[in-house]
Amino acid sequence: MKTQTTNIDCVGDDKIALELENYLKNLGFDAKSEESTVIVDKTNVGESLYLFLKETNRSQYKIRKLDSENFLLSKEVPIEDLDLLSCEMCGFVLSNETELMNHRRAHGIGII
Ligand SMILES: [Zn+2]
Repeated sequence: MKTQTTNIDCVGDDKIALELENYLKNLGFDAKSEESTVIVDKTNVGESLYLFLKETNRSQYKIRKLDSENFLLSKEVPIEDLDLLSCEMCGFVLSNETELMNHRRAHGIGII
């Protein structure tokens, strides 16, 4: 019987791969990382991957399922890295804190 495995490609991020390996091991999976790829001897690990990101507060990372045996875990470039801010209510992008505060007032929110 062929053992099903899943590859999680962390796109060059060895550090997160190692953390993910340990996280999966703690869940009782047989996981090992090879550079930035984590190999698990199990399929349907998608939910565990989402939990890993949630529990380690990695909201800027995204998991993409390529097929049933291959996942891609990569970091989305957050808007903050581009020195821009965005309004949490409408998503409008502004270049500084003052503009953002003025913009928020337009939503009718008083800032005390
Ligand atoms: Zn807004």
